[in-house]
Amino acid sequence: MMPRPRAPSGVLSLRRVRTCLRDLSIRAKLTVLLTLTIYVALTVVGGLTYWRHAERTRANLQARVENLAHVIAGHLGSALLLADADTATALLASLAVDPCIDQALLLGPDGEIFARWYRHDRPVVPPWEMPQRPGAHFTDRRLLVVDTVEAPAARRSGPQGGRHGTLVLEANLRQVEELAADERRGALLTALIGALVAWVFSVLAAKRLVRPLLALERVAARVRDQEDFSLRVPKHADDEIGRVVDSFNLMLATIQRREEDLRRLTCDLEKQVRERTAELRAKNASLQEAMRQAQEAARAKAEFLANMSHEIRTPMNGIMGMTELALESADDPVQREQLELVRSSADHLLYIINDILDFSKIEARKLELAHRPFSIRDHLADTLRRLAVTAQDKGLELAADVEPEVPDLLVGDPDRLGQVLVNLVGNAIKFTDAGEVVVGVEVLERGERDAQLHFTVSDTGIGIPEDKLDQIFRAFEQADSSMTRRYGGTGLGLAISSQLVELMGGRIWVESREGAGSTFHFSLRLPVADGDAVRPRLGVDELAGTPVLVVDDNATNRKILERMLAAWKLRPFVTASAEEALKAYEFLSACGQRVPLVVTDVCMPDVDGLEFVRRLRARGHDCAVLALTSAGNAGEARRHPELRLAGVLSKPVKPSTLLEAIVEALGTALAPAADGPPADTSPAPTADPAAGDPAGGGARGTAAGARRLRVLAAEDNAVNQRLIRLLVEKRGHEITLAANGREAVDRYVDEQFDLVLMDVQMPEMNGFEATAAIREIEARTGRHVPVIAMTAHAMKGDRERCLEAGMDDYISKPIDRDVLFEHLDRVAAQPTDDTAPLSGWSDAIERLGGDEELLREIARAYLQERAALIGDLQQAVRSGRPERIERAAHSVKGCVANVGAERAVQLALQIEQAGRAGEIAPAAGLLERLRGELAAVDTALTDLLAGEAA
Ligand code: ADP
Repeated sequence: MMPRPRAPSGVLSLRRVRTCLRDLSIRAKLTVLLTLTIYVALTVVGGLTYWRHAERTRANLQARVENLAHVIAGHLGSALLLADADTATALLASLAVDPCIDQALLLGPDGEIFARWYRHDRPVVPPWEMPQRPGAHFTDRRLLVVDTVEAPAARRSGPQGGRHGTLVLEANLRQVEELAADERRGALLTALIGALVAWVFSVLAAKRLVRPLLALERVAARVRDQEDFSLRVPKHADDEIGRVVDSFNLMLATIQRREEDLRRLTCDLEKQVRERTAELRAKNASLQEAMRQAQEAARAKAEFLANMSHEIRTPMNGIMGMTELALESADDPVQREQLELVRSSADHLLYIINDILDFSKIEARKLELAHRPFSIRDHLADTLRRLAVTAQDKGLELAADVEPEVPDLLVGDPDRLGQVLVNLVGNAIKFTDAGEVVVGVEVLERGERDAQLHFTVSDTGIGIPEDKLDQIFRAFEQADSSMTRRYGGTGLGLAISSQLVELMGGRIWVESREGAGSTFHFSLRLPVADGDAVRPRLGVDELAGTPVLVVDDNATNRKILERMLAAWKLRPFVTASAEEALKAYEFLSACGQRVPLVVTDVCMPDVDGLEFVRRLRARGHDCAVLALTSAGNAGEARRHPELRLAGVLSKPVKPSTLLEAIVEALGTALAPAADGPPADTSPAPTADPAAGDPAGGGARGTAAGARRLRVLAAEDNAVNQRLIRLLVEKRGHEITLAANGREAVDRYVDEQFDLVLMDVQMPEMNGFEATAAIREIEARTGRHVPVIAMTAHAMKGDRERCLEAGMDDYISKPIDRDVLFEHLDRVAAQPTDDTAPLSGWSDAIERLGGDEELLREIARAYLQERAALIGDLQQAVRSGRPERIERAAHSVKGCVANVGAERAVQLALQIEQAGRAGEIAPAAGLLERLRGELAAVDTALTDLLAGEAA
């Protein structure tokens, strides 16, 4: 890097001086300035005076010497004329009286020195340097005056006559110089005194000038330091500084005024804040009090709800159960009709009670949503099937139209979704006299892990006036609230539906015109279950391209069927009447296109479905026919074997059921899903649930192959005791009753039971406590008897509480006897605790064609694999992922089934089912029991294999 050239020190110091001067105080600056100004002025004046004085002194000297020269020249003329050098010299010497004359010369006409006189030993200016020209000549420190000497006229005729001489006087300037020196000294002194006076004057003047500025500065500093805007700067004069002072004072006054305004405002504000704070405190206190009261009220309400639920459901249980039993034994038709009326009234009453309880639960924020995987198509079909009978009674078409893009396995609360759909579809049926009710589902937006679904329920009913569209979603509001209204209802259905939809994170709205039907919409975003991708999409490759003829008079149904069939890669030909269908069939046959399957609606105008099939058969067509019928007419359709129907399906039909029926009808086996049981566990298509009644009706004994159970029932209500006894005995089991929890525990200790039915709310010892006591006893014995809670509680978390208390399952009151029978059957089908761990060993040998050696091989392999399998299951349960639990339990089930460990198979099955239902807590409890059971299986197997070796 090049060194920076240094500034010359002179420049630097000049700059420094300038900086110093710039930073001097104004007063110092003024003093310096004034002093300099006055000094310079005095010096100039003094100089000029001195100069003028010197000039005058020189002029005076010149005049005096010239005069002397003139006088002497007059006298010298005669001496020159007479050539009298002595006289001339004497005359010249007379000049010695004037001290400033140093030399006098008289030159003759020839220019030679005629006479001379000089004061000092030798002349100061040599004669040859003397000027000849007449006049005064100043040289360095000398004055030379030259004058002409003329001889008198009369004498001009003498030897020198007519000749001129020249007189030269040399004067020194000593006197002049002395005077000038005096003058200079005087001037210097004057200048010095002047400078002093100027300085004093400047100091005073500067002080005077700067004084107002200093006052301004002082006040400004105080204002800055003390923030005192009441200060003012005194004004001394009306000059510029005076005006600055005025402006400054004005500014201070303005600030002071603002400051005062501000202070006043702040004071006001502080006062207001204090007042508001006090108000707020008071309000807060009252709010807290109100909140406490509200919480208290909510708690009371929740308790009241629980009690009401219990109190209402308990007698309802009695009414409904007893009516059911009475109906079974009533032969008198009048009595039967009356009992039927009681039953339907009780059903209706229970429906209303459920609505009110639901509404209160939602209001009290006590409703919790489930979160488990479900198939939307199956669930929708199941839900609609419940309403199909009512729709059919009114002659309405009820259809479900789920677009193929809608993912099938979703995660959510299917029961609550079903409740919304039942409400909307129920209303649609209620308010429609002719036409159809269609439920549609489409995908609005498909995310990676979820889907935004749009549900619609449209009808061709009476519609809703525009001004009522908003209010119908409010509780207890109805479009027609007149006293003479045609339709019953509480006005709660839509309020509950809209709150449920909101609770599920969706939105509900309606489009309707009076007389032109209504469409209720709601949108929901639901996660897609993990299994949805792996679950095989419905569709069978072998069927691809198979022509199917569809006959249905209802356009919506035709559209839905066509879309379903196309989604399965079949080739649908759609027709709207029997006649059209026959023509189409024959036309296709004529073209060489065999139609192996016809799907026909049964209920059609003019020629109905059965008649159509009859005509088809009459013409010798041998195709398979699936008949779609309304819920109540399935039996009628089946009574015609001559029609050779391949299946009778109730509408609205589940897609999976229809596909299964098609596959069966066409003689193709539907391959089971690779990683689990088939998704649809609904009854086979021909076994129409509405036609037969596999679960209810008629006296029945113990399910085939099941054992007779010893049931202990704890129930405090006498009517319910009787009802339970009747139901349990009716199912062919033995029952012991206990009036409360304490008695139940005592009974449990004394006797052996296969199942405990436990009411929850009982005097002395409630169901939870009794179950805990039973489980404690069992911990010592190693037994485990299933305990099923029976509770009329409708509050959230009841199910969880029951499971936590050690109960195995839960039935809600009023008891649905089918549900009770299902539980009884399930327990009856399970191997007992007394059964040997390898109770199915001989069956397993039989399954292997009697090859016991092979089974022993399998058992050895099992003993090696077992630890890994159970480890997988344990991890799955710990992960809390239902589908993993289901899969792992399924694998364990397969392995233990191979070695005939029946009890372990049952436990693994229960875990698998719990996984499928998304219930983690019960799965964890069951896993513990399974581990115990597997230990027993291990011991048994090891003994068995060791026995063989011995
Ligand atoms: P309700 O028990 O009275 O049916 P809801 O809350 O279910 O109570 O319905 C409120 C009102 O909305 C009904 O009373 C009826 O006036 C109107 N409404 C609901 N659904 C329909 C529909 N599909 N067609 C015409 N009106 C309807």
